[in-house]
Amino acid sequence: AKDGGRNQLQFYTSEMNARVTERTLIEGHLRNALVRHEFVLHFQPRIDCATGRVAGLEALLRWQQPELGLVQPDRFIGVAEETGRIVEIGEWVLYEACRQAKAWQDAGLPRVPVAVNVSARQFRQAGFVQEVRGALEASGLEAGYLELELTESLMMQNVEGVIAAMLHLKAGGVRLSIDDFGTGYSSLSYLRRFPLDYLKIDRSFVRDMLHDAPGSAIVRSMITLGHSLGCRIIAEGVETNDQLGYLTQEGCDEIQGFLCSRPVTGEAAGELLYADR
Ligand code: C2E
Ligand code: CA
Ligand code: CA
Ligand code: CA
Repeated sequence: AKDGGRNQLQFYTSEMNARVTERTLIEGHLRNALVRHEFVLHFQPRIDCATGRVAGLEALLRWQQPELGLVQPDRFIGVAEETGRIVEIGEWVLYEACRQAKAWQDAGLPRVPVAVNVSARQFRQAGFVQEVRGALEASGLEAGYLELELTESLMMQNVEGVIAAMLHLKAGGVRLSIDDFGTGYSSLSYLRRFPLDYLKIDRSFVRDMLHDAPGSAIVRSMITLGHSLGCRIIAEGVETNDQLGYLTQEGCDEIQGFLCSRPVTGEAAGELLYADR
């Protein structure tokens, strides 16, 4: 038993070392990523259940690091948040997403909003609302074609401040979504005070939805709740036709997931829009 304990301790230690090494590695490479133009946006369409057409595109960040290859956000967003680097990265994402959306419009493609993920740290910055305005002005994109995805946990800290900033953004014409809905702690009494356009049901609920009665009931309730808040409902992570069928039956407005398309390059997303014109 004593030996087992020691082995276990060694195991944990080496795992911790590996984690620290990974973090240090990512942190180091992140420092130069922006100036070296290593970031690129991919886009995942969401589909309107009623028309079958593209209803919007979510910008998802990818990092093309020469030594590490294509790095997915789960590997670096957390580190970028901890170090604060997410602020400048997020600013780049905002500008780049607006620029791309405007370029599609200028090419005569169907006009759909582009959705940008906003991290808590970025949103809390004093100049955030101004920064959004700057990205719209610089790109020439109309505000109504920009959506900001805010997570539940972001919205539940400093609620009054968040509501004020959201009202500011709304007044400017920007659309607002609550992302990963159901995974954080939303207070229902606050929820009604946020000026939300979309509620995105987290994919964990969609995944478990058809396994048992509670799973389906939860999703049905989320759709009802979202509608009573005046939101359009987007289901995330839709992978099967059965899921699509249930969601449509329950009145879900839009679906996003591998069933329709994986996130694709800007060029491929343009082709999706072209096919949809
Ligand atoms: P998210 O905002 O919830 O984005 C959806 C994630 O689900 C994406 O992962 C997407 O590829 C994945 N996904 C979409 N459909 C399916 C499906 O049918 N099945 C499965 N299994 N997965 C699906 P991705 O691109 O790896 O992004 C992960 C997270 O990283 C995002 O989750 C978001 O929280 C964060 N993120 C991505 N881009 C940005 C960004 O520009 N800024 C910030 N702050 N966070 C970002
Ligand atoms: Ca999102
Ligand atoms: Ca999400
Ligand atoms: Ca998520």
